[in-house]
Amino acid sequence: MQIKQLFAVLSVFVFGASFASQAYAATAWPANNTPRERTYVKDSVRKNLGQKNASLAAKYRSTMLDRFLKYTTYDSQSSDATDMTPEQIETAKKLYAEIQKFGFKTTLSEHYYIYVEIPSNVNWQTPTLGFSCHYDTTPDIIGKNIKAQKIAKYDGKPIQLKNGHTMTLETDPYLKQMIGKTIVTSDGTTMLSADDKAGVSVIVTLIQTLAENPAKKHGKIQIVITPNEDVGRSADYIEETPYNPDLAFDFDGGVNGEVVVSNFNAEKVIYRVHGVNGHQSMAAENGYRNAWKPACELGAACAKDEWLPNNSRGQQGYVELHHMDMGDGKVNVAELDFRLRDFRQQNIDDWKNYADKVAKEISAKYGVKIERAIAKQYGNVAENIHPQAHQVVANALKNAGVTPNFKEERAGTTASMLMLKLGKGAYTVFTGQNNPHAFTEWLSEEDMYKAYLVALNMTDEVVMMK
Ligand SMILES: [Zn+2]
Repeated sequence: MQIKQLFAVLSVFVFGASFASQAYAATAWPANNTPRERTYVKDSVRKNLGQKNASLAAKYRSTMLDRFLKYTTYDSQSSDATDMTPEQIETAKKLYAEIQKFGFKTTLSEHYYIYVEIPSNVNWQTPTLGFSCHYDTTPDIIGKNIKAQKIAKYDGKPIQLKNGHTMTLETDPYLKQMIGKTIVTSDGTTMLSADDKAGVSVIVTLIQTLAENPAKKHGKIQIVITPNEDVGRSADYIEETPYNPDLAFDFDGGVNGEVVVSNFNAEKVIYRVHGVNGHQSMAAENGYRNAWKPACELGAACAKDEWLPNNSRGQQGYVELHHMDMGDGKVNVAELDFRLRDFRQQNIDDWKNYADKVAKEISAKYGVKIERAIAKQYGNVAENIHPQAHQVVANALKNAGVTPNFKEERAGTTASMLMLKLGKGAYTVFTGQNNPHAFTEWLSEEDMYKAYLVALNMTDEVVMMK
């Protein structure tokens, strides 16, 4: 816990002084940038474009699977202990070398983000479309020397992996839908790294498709492939100039049709109670005040039963008293670290107002100073999403023959961290990855292919906005 560092960088509120503004850094959509869908786009026009995409995509299907298998051999685990791992640097360089050959403006930033800009090839204004994914893999499980196993025409029988791992239709019911199709697993000694090599395969194949088929119309597209997603830091060094799209989609989701359209807002709120030092035996005379008692009272008042995580479900948020640091008698400082989660920012703001009121009362009652620090962790993508994002993805799914499964996530997503940084919302789209961060991780080739088709269809949806 690096509380000292946190207090140094965040606005600190001392009761008695005025509140630092904690306004949510959301950018409003400029009126002239808000696209309208052309009302005369007939279903038949859209269907025709979808069919063209399907035959174009079919040509790249085996290339994409080979690409995915190649990427699984790249070691790219991120780490909590360091900013960049040598494995990630190595992978970023390989990806950069591969992508820049397609001829679009490709940049490898000093923090190893890969940016690609595909210029519009139509002569009317379209919103900029953005695609993101991540090349790092989780440090939580063995991820070196991955030996992927391709299983073509899966027969539905149990899949025996090394080290005693078995996958069956019972343990993985979704495998039932893969009978007769191609899936990829690890050999059981490592994860597979479909999270998010599947997303990277989709995006790189999309870049290749647009490069090799210049007749295909599209608007401006910005792409970012990030490091450090699996350690929660993929947005840390993202740059706004190369990646600031109007409509953004993160390709890091699960199974066919799944699109995450809403998630928690998240804030960390820390109260620090300063006692007054002195010898306890002379407290009446020397003004000694213990920090623990007011801290405990504040903790109890601000984490009410009805706000506890165990009483929260669906769209309901919660307040978690995540950490208490009571210091010792000498330091006489106590800290309470609250984690707030809610789909509605307003609820979080209401809690903060309530907690501040209680803190003020306790501060006065015990004669102790109380400070507050706030760190916004991620935002609900639904609270500042492009007005037509939903329509774009819904049309793109439909045109790819995919049944939509719009989901709410009781957590954060990479898209939500990017949102906080860029002030815009983005949806998370499926990629075909299953059981991420496990020895039994597997890829549905069919779902990865459909995700790529959906991305291609999205480029048309944007072109149709005029
Ligand atoms: Zn991921």
